Amino acid sequence: MNDTLSRDIENARGQNAWEEKATVFSDYKNRVIGGTLYLVATPIGNLSDMSARALKVLSEVDFIAAEDTRNTLKLLGFFGISRPVVSYYEYNKDKKGEYILNRLKAGESCALVTDAGTPAISDPGEDMVRLCAENDIPVTSIPGCCAAVCALSLSALPTSSFVFEGFLQGGKSDKKKRLEELSLEKRTVILYEAPHRLKDTLSDLLDCFSDRQIAICRELTKLNEQIIRTTLSEAVRIYETEEPRGEYVLVIKGRDERDSKDEFWREMSVSEHVEFYTKLGCEKMEAIKKAAKDRGVGKSSLYKELMGK
Ligand code: SAM
Repeated sequence: MNDTLSRDIENARGQNAWEEKATVFSDYKNRVIGGTLYLVATPIGNLSDMSARALKVLSEVDFIAAEDTRNTLKLLGFFGISRPVVSYYEYNKDKKGEYILNRLKAGESCALVTDAGTPAISDPGEDMVRLCAENDIPVTSIPGCCAAVCALSLSALPTSSFVFEGFLQGGKSDKKKRLEELSLEKRTVILYEAPHRLKDTLSDLLDCFSDRQIAICRELTKLNEQIIRTTLSEAVRIYETEEPRGEYVLVIKGRDERDSKDEFWREMSVSEHVEFYTKLGCEKMEAIKKAAKDRGVGKSSLYKELMGK
């Protein structure tokens, strides 16, 4: 707390002293201060989720740094806000980061907004916060929506401890390797995924996690919001015939020792079990290997059974 604030709070006296103190504190907290970076959360779909404080800060800062200036100008236009906007995104973040930092050092206030949700969560805002922290520039948050938390709260899966992975990084084999590691995680796992990669990711998840519960959270807070609470094998089936559209968060149940065998194949015959994997795109021998592994038998004995020998 700075001296002016302490003095103002101290000066609040009389019958309604506590109310006055609270008002002084809240006015102080809501004041836009020069040389500060404001991380302003924006809606992830529903514009009514914009907070009053976010609007105030966006209207009062010296300038706004935006991931996609066109999106942000539309948002500002909707709320009748007119402030200078500069772009700050993945491919200019080094150069623009220094530029924003210099303006902050010169005493200007800046609001950082990203395409949607809370800046710095799976977007370049993370680097801007680090740069400010390294340069002793105050950073404060105007909290609001975050797709990961919104999805977790809707998942009906355990929420007391969870791991947020964001987007899986790298090529196919890096992703698979990461999923293998995550499959050992006992906490609920949260992933972000793009629609064009959803089918592959679901089938990789089934492969690595076996048949667990998943909540597929699509288009949160939007008109077509959809939460599919199902199992991984069913999720793969659903998207065999449905084209993924919109934005997705996947929430997957952590590993549970009691049902770690995840025997989704229990009701299947050997040939159905093998066919299940071939339908997911495996070569026949790979499908046999996987089915054998699930059943805890050798692949040659499963092959013999399959051939009726
Ligand atoms: N900073 C953002 C946040 O706080 O959630 C996340 C930014 S990240 C670049 C964008 C990803 O978040 C999308 O690809 C999607 O996985 C997820 N996402 C954002 N909005 C969403 C929505 N309305 N419904 C479902 N997922 C959403």
